[in-house]
Amino acid sequence: VSEMNQCTIADKIEFIGIGLHSGSKVRMEILPAPASSGIVFERIDYPLKRRIDAKIENVQGTKLSTTLSNGECYVSTVEHVMAALNGMGVDNAWIRVNGPEIPIMDGSAAEFVSEIIRVGIVKQGAKRNCQWISQAFEVTDGDRYIRARPSRELKLRCSIDFPGSIIGKQTVEWKLSRENFENLAQARTFCHLSEVEAMRKRGLALGGSLQNAVVVSDERILNEEGLRSKLEFAEHKLLDFIGDVALAGFPVLGDLEIHKPGHDLNAKFVRTLIQNQNKLLSSTPLPQHSEIPVGERAAILVYAI
Ligand SMILES: [Zn+2]
Repeated sequence: VSEMNQCTIADKIEFIGIGLHSGSKVRMEILPAPASSGIVFERIDYPLKRRIDAKIENVQGTKLSTTLSNGECYVSTVEHVMAALNGMGVDNAWIRVNGPEIPIMDGSAAEFVSEIIRVGIVKQGAKRNCQWISQAFEVTDGDRYIRARPSRELKLRCSIDFPGSIIGKQTVEWKLSRENFENLAQARTFCHLSEVEAMRKRGLALGGSLQNAVVVSDERILNEEGLRSKLEFAEHKLLDFIGDVALAGFPVLGDLEIHKPGHDLNAKFVRTLIQNQNKLLSSTPLPQHSEIPVGERAAILVYAI
């Protein structure tokens, strides 16, 4: 990732699906975009001010999904398509959508990734603006945290804990590579059946089904096909993180330990990075020997939610 040029997709790709929360049909197109334009959403069903840049300052909501807004219109559930673009190394793309929600597809990023692979990725004539974590720090919310420390490459460790549920405790350790990302992209979103019922009462998750989520009830997984991988739950949380961290607007490299993440904590992490860019980020990696060993907690800046 680090020394390379920016990339976009080689051709337009299209998706038709439903919005997880609205339940209504949506059409989405992803088009190639010029170097340094970043990821941009466009609400084509909206008369004016349709453009919404995929930037942290446009995050309007982090409940259940990440919602971006330009003050006039919004687009929600952006995290899986953002993850697909980020994980595949697509820096610039124009995403046209005819409704307020990105199609949920099968609840993972797999279909976005396979379409990106099908059309291919092209290098552009501008360098990628990679930023390395230059100082150990963490953002916290109660017992949840994201701890960052300098590293020359992107290393992620994500743990979740759902006591009293079959999900239980899971930890996934992960390094960025094309193959690792293609596997991670298969992990589907998940929820407890009791949450589905509560969400439906509030008019949410209307498009949710066993076709686009893993649904857990007591000690059982309701999906007939079961899980796609043993760590699918933690893997999906990591996928969400990869989507949300892309809202920094540039690749962030470092060693990150993520415990019980959610879109709120992910956004807090990115906001902290952007607001303290001079202190926390560097456009060159630290020399290898100055990396802080895992477990070393001294001199960590703490940002609480
Ligand atoms: Zn998700």
